Amino acid sequence: MGKSRLNVRLLSCTKEPIVTIALSGKLCYSPSGIGELKQSVQSGSPEAFLDKLLDSGHLSPIEHASFTFGIEGVSRALLAQITRHRIASFSVQSQRYVKMDEFNYIVPPSIGTLGEEAEREYGRQMRLMHEWYLEWMKKTGAAEDARFVLPNAAETRFIVTMNARELLHFFNLRCCNRAQWEIRKLAFAMLALARREAPALFCEAGSSCISGSCPEGRMSCGKKAEMQQASKKLNELLSNGATDEELMEWAIDFA
Ligand SMILES: Cc1cc2nc3c(=O)[nH]c(=O)nc-3n(C[C@H](O)[C@H](O)[C@H](O)COP(=O)(O)OP(=O)(O)OC[C@H]3O[C@@H](n4cnc5c(N)ncnc54)[C@H](O)[C@@H]3O)c2cc1C
Repeated sequence: MGKSRLNVRLLSCTKEPIVTIALSGKLCYSPSGIGELKQSVQSGSPEAFLDKLLDSGHLSPIEHASFTFGIEGVSRALLAQITRHRIASFSVQSQRYVKMDEFNYIVPPSIGTLGEEAEREYGRQMRLMHEWYLEWMKKTGAAEDARFVLPNAAETRFIVTMNARELLHFFNLRCCNRAQWEIRKLAFAMLALARREAPALFCEAGSSCISGSCPEGRMSCGKKAEMQQASKKLNELLSNGATDEELMEWAIDFA
């Protein structure tokens, strides 16, 4: 039993995502067959065509590229938020079928920064709830019922697949400073991995203010320059060949 740390992996994605998107977009405007079109896309500049699609708002072709992430070290509180994104597909570790003999939990930074005693107190509370869980398991044998006494802090793990259009939208909302801290850190970690995999698609991805204006109006955090700086820092890390672990650290520390 102990505290968990965010861990995100890009498990798989569409092969040649930019070619696939450019081919899908060009097909709309061309009399050519798909074989011929694919050759012309591969020998041309699919990145330039992708930019045209993004600029013109012709976004359905980017739905043909999908990205699958494996996510651990996040709370059930985060799960409630991310599953609001309806275009994504999820497979989540079940609290009905998986018994919580091992119980890990997430510590909010606001509690961590109060110091060691505060963290110990929080840990005691987690252990207490876990004891309640084990008692109910013994009495009912039903994990699906014993879990009712587990906290929002309980760790979960899941696999999520999003297409590139949904991912860009997700980054707009969840890399924003107005988003809650845990989902923001996750969004930054996913952004780092996605940008490394498909830079042409995700080079300007992130909160809306990275490449445009802030939609928050009076509620704006006023940190546009800082957000743009973070995006540049990510580009530096990527061009220096940062490892997954370094990207995780960047996401956890910055966001
Ligand atoms: C800072 C922040 C605070 C939030 N606070 C709250 C809160 O207090 N309470 C709360 O309940 N939620 C809250 N949310 C969640 C929010 O309301 C959305 O449910 C969540 O962000 C998913 O966004 P989405 O619907 O745009 O995304 P997705 O479900 O991923 O959909 C993507 C896009 O597809 C389109 N779409 C999808 N489904 C439909 C549909 N049925 N009809 C029409 N268009 C559709 C929309 O254009 C949508 O933007 C918050 C989110 C953020 C970022």
